[in-house]
Amino acid sequence: MRLTAIPRMTVGLVSLAVMLLLVFDALLGLFPTDAQTRRNVNLQVANALAAQTAALLPRRDWRALDQTLHNVLVAQGKDLASIGLRRADGSLLVQAGTHPASWNAGSNGQDITVVLTANDQRWGQLELAFHKPSLADLPSWALSGPVRMVLLFGVLATLLYYLYLRRVLEHLDPSAAVPDRVRSAFDTLVEGVMVVDAQGRILLVNKAFEALRPASDTKPLLGQRAQALTWLQPSDPATAAAPWMEAMQQRHSARGLAFVVRDPHERGAAQTQADQTGGLEPVEPRAHVVLNCSPLTDEQGGLRGCLVSLGDVTELEMSHRQLLEVLADLAASKQELEHKNRELEQLASQDILSGCLNRRAFFELGDGLFRRALRDGSPLVCVMADIDHFKKINDTWGHAVGDQAIKRFAALLRQHVRPGDLLGRYGGEEFCLVLFGATPERGQQLAEALRSSVASNRGQGLDPGERLNMTASFGLAAMTEGVNDLAALIDLADRAMYVAKHGGRNRVVVYQADQQTTANDAATRPQESVT
Ligand code: GH3
Ligand code: MG
Ligand code: MG
Repeated sequence: MRLTAIPRMTVGLVSLAVMLLLVFDALLGLFPTDAQTRRNVNLQVANALAAQTAALLPRRDWRALDQTLHNVLVAQGKDLASIGLRRADGSLLVQAGTHPASWNAGSNGQDITVVLTANDQRWGQLELAFHKPSLADLPSWALSGPVRMVLLFGVLATLLYYLYLRRVLEHLDPSAAVPDRVRSAFDTLVEGVMVVDAQGRILLVNKAFEALRPASDTKPLLGQRAQALTWLQPSDPATAAAPWMEAMQQRHSARGLAFVVRDPHERGAAQTQADQTGGLEPVEPRAHVVLNCSPLTDEQGGLRGCLVSLGDVTELEMSHRQLLEVLADLAASKQELEHKNRELEQLASQDILSGCLNRRAFFELGDGLFRRALRDGSPLVCVMADIDHFKKINDTWGHAVGDQAIKRFAALLRQHVRPGDLLGRYGGEEFCLVLFGATPERGQQLAEALRSSVASNRGQGLDPGERLNMTASFGLAAMTEGVNDLAALIDLADRAMYVAKHGGRNRVVVYQADQQTTANDAATRPQESVT
């Protein structure tokens, strides 16, 4: 198992500290051992027992003495093996436990001898023999004071050193480990370069990267997590905010990610302004960058970090935007041009006074309808319409009223034609209709409706009003065999119209090849004069 740097340093530091503690303990005895503590207690017991014995000796109450020694042996039986009271001549006066067997004249270093005196003379001695240490005592030794202390210190120190080192190393300059020549090589790159460790902490940045950073961000870059760089954001919210972490996780490079550099302070200011004005203007990013990240691995394939590069494409982005704007302008002007063209086309095909098709457009479209009718055998009717005695209107009311009368006449005709029909101004006060798909009967009905509408309208809406008494005559011709173009059909309708004029005006005449032209008997008698 490979230890990473911080745990390795922690283990080293804790070992050093433990070693120092042990050396100090050895030299200065910092921690009292259990044996020492026990020895002190034993000495106190021995002294107390000696004082009691010394008090009982003058009374020569051996029974009480024997009882006392036994009581003490029972009380201290865990450590104490036997007690003996020996005279100065070496004879054992009283004993508790198997004293001769346990007592080695205090040679094991633990046994205690207390000299008893009487009348300033050595009377004898009190001997306390203790159990010898054995292997069974090992567990209790392992948990003795110093060992416990070292263990507890070791665990606590490991934890504290680890946390402390982690915190401190974030603030150390990790780039110090990067050789100068490597750094200056990175600095020559036009692209911004950032190297992060496996946790995303920044280990190295080059000058171009620092140049991208907004001046308002003054926090040291090295050591902080790259995920915390608030000024570097993906252009598309769907892109991960820290793609280097994903790249490391998947051990796969990520290329061409669009990011923007924004100054968080600028945004804050814009937000405050927006709060005041009630609207948020989008803040233009300071730079547009393309981000690439490649995970870095060691020879064993272990993940060591990630190399992140940022290419500044702001100018490219700007030109792209300008291009888009130009294209949008172009599209708009193209649309406007098309609109103008349509208007022009309409103007070019329109008669200005009446708003109907002019003669040229009428013939163009009419020819098309005629050929279509020829092709698929559809019926087609042509109607010529001419205001009666128009010259008189002009003469009586003036040219301007004459113009108004033409307009009004055209408007009445327009009201009756269907969308597929054509209505054109053929001459001064002469109009021509092409009714595609209409039978002669339907054409005649329509012409009659027109005639009646003009006659009953009597020039309403015009200056002289009802006194105008405007009427019109209509000539009608249906497409038949032998009529090969529109002009020929119009000619027939024109002829029928003249028959209507000669027949007394204000009437509809249908062209009939066999009977020449006949006036429509259904027509009401015309009011021929204009007042
Ligand atoms: P008829 O009943 O036989 O059709 O007699 P009319 O007077 O209507 O026909 P004529 O062809 O004799 O006269 C047509 C007049 O229309 C002649 C011309 O001065 C006048 N005119 C032609 N174009 C215009 C125009 O645009 N405006 C005005 N006000 N008059 C026009
Ligand atoms: Mg006329
Ligand atoms: Mg005329």
